[in-house]
Amino acid sequence: MFPGHAEMIHFTCDLCHRAIDCEDEVRYVVRLEVYASLDADADPGEERDHLQEIEDILEGVDDLSDPDVGADVYHQARYDLCSACRKRFVKNPLGRGVAANLDFSNN
Ligand SMILES: [Zn+2]
Repeated sequence: MFPGHAEMIHFTCDLCHRAIDCEDEVRYVVRLEVYASLDADADPGEERDHLQEIEDILEGVDDLSDPDVGADVYHQARYDLCSACRKRFVKNPLGRGVAANLDFSNN
């Protein structure tokens, strides 16, 4: 489509939806992991493999045959942020008080 134009991967800030120019600015990645803590029976002295634990949780909810339950138990997402939004995010990662301004919905 644009012969000679360098192939570039464009990232968009997931908070302000601005294109991030990776040549001029740093792109920040937020990795979000939310999972149900169902380890009431676990021995606190026993170091369990984290992934194995999640597999166990997901196996446990298989029987419910409800695909939404798995997402409730374990949810992982990744967001790209520009430097300005990174500053805001680090100050207030949970969006306390400004939840209406942060669109973290996964649509
Ligand atoms: Zn931004």
